[in-house]
Amino acid sequence: MEAFNEQEAKMWFRKSDRIIIKIGTNVLTPHTTKYNPTYFEKLAASISFLQQQKKKVILVSSGAVGLGLKSLSDTLLKKVHKQNLAHRQALASLGQNKLMSLYSDAFEKQGLFVAQVLVSRKDFLNRDHYHNLKNVLETLLSWNVVPIINENDAVSTEELRLGDNDTLSAHITAMHWSSFLIMLTSIDGFYLNKKRLLVVRTIQEKIEKAARGPEAGGIGGMKTKIKAAKKLLQSAQAMVIASGENPDILYDIAEGKAVGTYFLPKSDKGELTAKQRWILHNRHTEGAVLIDKGAEKAILEKRASLLPVGVKQVIQPFEKNAIINVLNQDQKKVARGLTKISSAALEKKMNQKKKSNIELIHRDDLVLL
Ligand code: GLU
Repeated sequence: MEAFNEQEAKMWFRKSDRIIIKIGTNVLTPHTTKYNPTYFEKLAASISFLQQQKKKVILVSSGAVGLGLKSLSDTLLKKVHKQNLAHRQALASLGQNKLMSLYSDAFEKQGLFVAQVLVSRKDFLNRDHYHNLKNVLETLLSWNVVPIINENDAVSTEELRLGDNDTLSAHITAMHWSSFLIMLTSIDGFYLNKKRLLVVRTIQEKIEKAARGPEAGGIGGMKTKIKAAKKLLQSAQAMVIASGENPDILYDIAEGKAVGTYFLPKSDKGELTAKQRWILHNRHTEGAVLIDKGAEKAILEKRASLLPVGVKQVIQPFEKNAIINVLNQDQKKVARGLTKISSAALEKKMNQKKKSNIELIHRDDLVLL
């Protein structure tokens, strides 16, 4: 178990100017009855406190489907199947509305305005859409409005879905290097062999193995949280998993108190550029290639660009400017990158004997996994 140092955790919080708070369904739904808005008011008060500390706060809130379910009569509830796409979408549109009214009523009491931002996978996959999202968030933050983000579940089909808000919140965190992610969940941290880890600096295999899927009512569980933490650590960004049972925990996190599991990078030198962070967090890739041993060595050890000569096979076709996975001979994902040519153009080059200096992925657009 790694040694925890309160000052170190506090330092990471202090130097972050953006705080992203992700709140899970199982945290929120017990507090969503009309007559018990205290939870949301406490949350609003702690966010107002953070704003006074000059932090820009973004919420990523789950709970639309959960709240939709809570709004149905017993008769309707018996007819609803969460696996049915239309039912899920309808539940989300019912619940999202309720969710936002709980937030806005409570936040307005603190003099804070909230804004709903619903996103889907394509808002992240395409770099123009991504910048568009970034710009609207920036504008809201500059007006001191608290953006509340959720997936646009009411219209998202399987192909359009990001799937879980852990992945979504990490994506939002990666938009700005000096962002700190707080994941509020129903458990007070990450447990390994029944012991809560206070701090993690590298995601070892035993941690990945111990990270289980969701509990009843939730979506991602620890599995998606650990995946998110791994990517954030790679880009020198900090995160904490803590219990969301009482929103006052945010005051403790601001002080670096040992109240959850902190994921703290070893150094504060961000190795990845903004574009590379965007590539890394795009789990939904648009294609894949398999490379030979020489190319693997070149990209891993020499940090070289990936050239068509190193590609053995196109596994999944893609267009130019697509984010694709790079697999080694053992079919293991070793990198992810943005293509300069389509798979059709690549296949032509692979069959040509004569040398060409065209790259499939430039080294600056390549991220090792
Ligand atoms: N977007 C889903 C909802 O609001 C939750 C997804 C998640 O919790 O990861 O119900």
